[in-house]
Amino acid sequence: MSKSSAAGRAAELRDQINEQTYRYYILNEPTVSDREFDALLDELIRLEAAHPELITPDSPTQRVGSDLTSSFPTVTHARPMLSLGNTYSSDDLREFDRRVRDRLGSEPFRYVAELKIDGVAISLTYQDGRLRCGATRGNGEQGDDITSNIRTIRSIPLQVRDVTVEGKPLGNFEVRGEVFMAKEDFVAMNAERELAGEKTFANPRNSTAGTLKLLDPKIVAGRPLATFTYYLTSDDHRLRSHADNLQLLKDLGFPTNPHWRACSTIDDVLAYCDEQERRRDELPYEIDGVVVKVDSLRQQEELGMISKSPRWAIAYKFEARTARTTMENITLQVGRLGTVTPVAELRPVLLAGSTISRATLHNADFITEKDIRITDTVIIEKGGDVIPKVDGVVLEERTESAEPYIFPEICPCPLETPLHRPEGEANYYCEHAECPWQIRGRIGHYASRAALDIEGLGAKVVDQLVTLGWVGSYADIYDLHRRRDDLAALERWGEKSADNLLAGIAQSRERPYFRVLFGLGIRHVGATVARTLAAEFNTIDRLMGATEEELTAVEDIGPRIAESVVRFFSDLGNHELIERLRAAGITFEGPARRVVTEADSPIAGKTFVLTGTLESYTREQVAALIEERGGKVTSSVSKKTDFVLAGAEAGSKLEKAGKLGVRVIDQTEFEELIR
Ligand code: NAD
Repeated sequence: MSKSSAAGRAAELRDQINEQTYRYYILNEPTVSDREFDALLDELIRLEAAHPELITPDSPTQRVGSDLTSSFPTVTHARPMLSLGNTYSSDDLREFDRRVRDRLGSEPFRYVAELKIDGVAISLTYQDGRLRCGATRGNGEQGDDITSNIRTIRSIPLQVRDVTVEGKPLGNFEVRGEVFMAKEDFVAMNAERELAGEKTFANPRNSTAGTLKLLDPKIVAGRPLATFTYYLTSDDHRLRSHADNLQLLKDLGFPTNPHWRACSTIDDVLAYCDEQERRRDELPYEIDGVVVKVDSLRQQEELGMISKSPRWAIAYKFEARTARTTMENITLQVGRLGTVTPVAELRPVLLAGSTISRATLHNADFITEKDIRITDTVIIEKGGDVIPKVDGVVLEERTESAEPYIFPEICPCPLETPLHRPEGEANYYCEHAECPWQIRGRIGHYASRAALDIEGLGAKVVDQLVTLGWVGSYADIYDLHRRRDDLAALERWGEKSADNLLAGIAQSRERPYFRVLFGLGIRHVGATVARTLAAEFNTIDRLMGATEEELTAVEDIGPRIAESVVRFFSDLGNHELIERLRAAGITFEGPARRVVTEADSPIAGKTFVLTGTLESYTREQVAALIEERGGKVTSSVSKKTDFVLAGAEAGSKLEKAGKLGVRVIDQTEFEELIR
């Protein structure tokens, strides 16, 4: 892959990953399975390994997905809360074992294997045996302080039992664990919500995450949250092993999961993984794999960590689960960009705890390749319990009357536009700008949380307003105030709903430029690309005037994005929409990027590589300081590196700097440099 196409692909991947991370951790509404998400991340990891110059400190490969919100106070974790390296195969697990053995040399060691509970990580800080603070993982360095919600979870002790370690009472310590909802409790809670006309949750993990971030602890107290703890640390005591800690946690009064096992070889670990995968459905709560940890805490410390995960632990994730059912029909869905997706309408079947009646068939090629026919018995698969998909056909059960499926090539909307399939693409598109299905999708996207975040303008309301003919584009949203009384008169609306919607619309005027840019729905312009474009072209007029060459000159903007942006702005209809939005008071201007020259800053244009841990800054803070002053941070040391900024426990980068004669500086020298 050439450097520019690798950069383009990396930008695309980061965009998709950031978007999915946001949906997963903040909105709790993932739209891809964990397996698909992990595949995207894996592709980015491999791409960055082949092109190290593409690694940026904020790349999703370098930091854990963040659940930080502005609704809670922020707390800094005493020790970072890391992610875990993921694997789906026994070969990878053996490879992990080999790496551990290589690093520990001839020293004997053992593993503890335990269930990977599919919930949400929390950190609990105790002082003199009393719960002081409960926090989410956040971005790994800092989390949301959700103590008042944590206090409502009955299985978490507010005051622990008396326990001594080597004669000293254990009073000041940190515990980590997983909050989750048992399957049965989740189903019951969803059924109640459905009865009450409230939104139901996709799976127990999402509802747990959503619950922990509620602002009213009384509501949290009513939700069936449970917990298992799996980590204990204290500055006052010398703790020895993970297995001992699990026992200590139990003695202190914390719930721990009983199904862990000490394993002296990787074969024992693999046998444990097999066993747990088989009994997965018998457990009353969801697990998504097994976590394997080196037992000795001293050896854990010796092994250390890489970027965002420890070297002494790994998550072995289970394969997706499957079920068989009959496919009764194939229908088409049209997205906001006109992409047509075929959907399998299934005879309802129970899979991994929920009833499935629809599954995606991706595109026409997929149906042809797998020769999927209506009335076939199909295998459906659920990865991370999100959108199920059809995985294949049980040919032995095909009836003689089943005919090969012919893709309709006509849009399912009332306009019945002939569909278009560009050369070399797997998707069909409806290109009619007035297609009501696309319009709904576009307005829905514009109003969505990551874009203009218009409260009260969810899918159902958009549907209703488009059907009534009151809005046909996102610019029409800003004319709705003229219909206030009509809105209030709608069935089940009333004055309050109408006013709330109009207030939500008015508030969208305050959203920053990059979110507006994302909301416009330009193909290939996801949230991250929108940020990059907004930083580089700080007014919409500058962006509208940009040529493909000017766009591709920007780091991370590849030819596909550039072409799409130019095409979007060459459409007069889009110009008109933008003018109407501008007249409605929408923000089309962002802060200009400051051009830093050597006269302003001695590090302008200089390249830094960071290694080890600095005393007073996180990596992200250092990177921000450098970038603000016109410098750049890359991840690997080369002849082009100007400075290696080294903190405690610096790694092999230091050696490399020595070999290449690159200047190495410490925190104090760095501070002098940027003063
Ligand atoms: P992770 O699932 O890879 O592993 C770390 C987490 O495992 C810990 O934070 C902890 O919460 C949990 N855990 C459960 N049992 C444990 C035990 N016994 N010991 C230690 N930890 C235990 O978590 P991550 O860092 O949040 O990684 C991202 C995960 O989320 C991946 O599995 C990824 O597929 C998924 N994800 C999915 C989407 C999506 O859109 N589907 C988006 C982002 C992330």
